[in-house]
Amino acid sequence: MPLDPYAWIDKSLDTLHRADWYRSVKSIEGMAGPVVTFDGQEVINFASNDYLGLAGDPRLAAAAIEAIQTYGTGSTGSRLLSGHRPLHEKLESAIATLKQTEDALVFSSGYLANIGAISALVGPRDLVLSDQYNHSSLKNGARMSGAALVDYAHCSLSDLRQQLQEQRHRYRRCLILTDSVFSMDGDLCPLPEILNLAEQFDSMVLVDEAHATGVLGSGGAGCVEHFGCRGRPLVQVGTLSKALGSLGGYVAGTASLIDFLRNRAPSWIYTTGLTPADTAAALKAIEIIQSEPEMRSQLWNHVHYLKHQLDQLWETGLPAHHTKRLPSDSPIFCIEVQDAAAVIRVGQQLRQLGLFVSPVRPPTSPTSRLRITLMASHMRSHLDQLLLGLKKTLLMP
Ligand SMILES: *Cc1c(COP(=O)(O)O)cnc(C)c1O
Repeated sequence: MPLDPYAWIDKSLDTLHRADWYRSVKSIEGMAGPVVTFDGQEVINFASNDYLGLAGDPRLAAAAIEAIQTYGTGSTGSRLLSGHRPLHEKLESAIATLKQTEDALVFSSGYLANIGAISALVGPRDLVLSDQYNHSSLKNGARMSGAALVDYAHCSLSDLRQQLQEQRHRYRRCLILTDSVFSMDGDLCPLPEILNLAEQFDSMVLVDEAHATGVLGSGGAGCVEHFGCRGRPLVQVGTLSKALGSLGGYVAGTASLIDFLRNRAPSWIYTTGLTPADTAAALKAIEIIQSEPEMRSQLWNHVHYLKHQLDQLWETGLPAHHTKRLPSDSPIFCIEVQDAAAVIRVGQQLRQLGLFVSPVRPPTSPTSRLRITLMASHMRSHLDQLLLGLKKTLLMP
């Protein structure tokens, strides 16, 4: 018998199953929205990043259809060769206007935007300081850059300062990386203080606004706006795929930064331009975000209501002692549970009650947790059903 050089794959899969870390795709049928059909069952959707409900908005669909009819389905080449369309430019200028930056550059995904920006900004002679809970795309961008990579404790300014004091002088450039809204926790980074430290230690800052764009800030521009940090020197990255209901990513910043990335970011240079449909849908979403702030207010009404109700529930002391609420300042709420097996079990129980909540496990997050996300298009009754479901599944017997 010849040896099978692929046999290790099945062994690896077995290990994942044994640790309750195995994951597989699940099918959602029909239109995106606050109520979806999951495995044939109608469920209230608390597992989507479509915070404003724009992914199912007919105005985005109409814009996408019109773009396809005008330009076709594919953009047929990389942006520097034959893939650049006037639509891309319109979208980039709309992003720059929203963010109040000089310019912006659209990538095929947020993941590619992070990888491209980070590996263009730093190299082997440089230092990257990264929040330990940062998104995978920030961590992998830092690895790809070849820079020395040091994690600092989650949102810890004292640890960040200490790392800067000990390490900064040994390197040419330094880049601090942080999510603005932490995707698997829901808390916010202390952005103004991070920028102060960066200034003090001659360091660049890249902030990932994936879960903040369209959600935070009075104009929906994100955490940078929320914290009053527009105009400070920083690199903003984000996605078109969450509150903007489309697909793609972007970097926003100074004109020279964007010009540099167009020449030095391989994940932008050597990939096909964003499709006309995705580009047009994102452009329409930005228009809506700016003209309909009431969507954002509705989302925040839901956030405050759920937060208040969860506070009350936890004050009763009734939730089982191994469950813990994580601090949140966003539409992302996380409830930590004992372990991976428990989070899957509770997730299934909630689903039987018609509630679709994501069970998140390592390595996506450091501990197992239920991740609940709210949408502007939820109704108050949806939230009440969620609260009832959490009471049933999390309270001590
Ligand atoms: C989702 C996400 C990304 C990736 O964006 P995509 O457009 O989905 O590739 C990057 N950073 C953070 C923090 C995210 O949550």
